[in-house]
Amino acid sequence: MLLRKRSEIVTKVDQLGAHDPAEVANLGFGKRIGDATLYAVERMTDAYQARTIYATVAEIDQALERLDAGTYGRCIACGTTIPSERLDAVPWAALCVPCSAKPAKSKVVR
Ligand SMILES: [Zn+2]
Repeated sequence: MLLRKRSEIVTKVDQLGAHDPAEVANLGFGKRIGDATLYAVERMTDAYQARTIYATVAEIDQALERLDAGTYGRCIACGTTIPSERLDAVPWAALCVPCSAKPAKSKVVR
């Protein structure tokens, strides 16, 4: 199931194609609101989506690694079993609900 989801997302990434953040940074914003600015905003939204999708693919890859390691379904921060409802909604979830709700800082400190 994870693999299928991953290939779906990879297809989406392919569709977004060349929208990498560096390219968008070069577009910049004009001083006037015009077509160029609208275009830049549009491209930024795509790049944002692409980044989000890339991040998701990375999370799925990590989930597959945990599947291999036999730790899939366990929270990477506290080790509790992630409820199956959460895994149904987010199959690549790496954190249990309480841990994902905590700010990133407390995860590092633990
Ligand atoms: Zn946890």
